[in-house]
Amino acid sequence: MSEHAHCGFCNATAPQNEMFRLIISPPGEEGFERTQTMFCHGACLDQVLHPQMWRHPDLLEESMLVADEIERNEKLAEAAYEAMYEARSHAAKDFFDDARSYFTRAIEIAKHAELDDEVSRLTARVDHIASVYNSQFRGIR
Ligand SMILES: [Zn+2]
Repeated sequence: MSEHAHCGFCNATAPQNEMFRLIISPPGEEGFERTQTMFCHGACLDQVLHPQMWRHPDLLEESMLVADEIERNEKLAEAAYEAMYEARSHAAKDFFDDARSYFTRAIEIAKHAELDDEVSRLTARVDHIASVYNSQFRGIR
């Protein structure tokens, strides 16, 4: 039987092997002896993490739907791509970089979840956006 622990957010108990482990480091000198370990539910962690906070792919499987996280990154990427069009200046590069990094994140999540069709679709989209950027914006100062 697995040991139980209190969730650091809601204080309910659950088996430790079903909970997330948060390692907290106080400010100051680093070192293992200065860290504190805390257990929590995946659902509780999701409530305190900002929606835009990046999640490790292993965390997603437990706490969020992979498809939602892909969609979220894709929306952010498409918004950055639209902003790139509006910018028409040196700022376009920043928006392009944002779009590319959100797509990269979505692709990583899709790969981790072995969603091959999603990987192909997202890769094709980011390749298209890169070719638009290279042909229309590259070299603009
Ligand atoms: Zn909890």
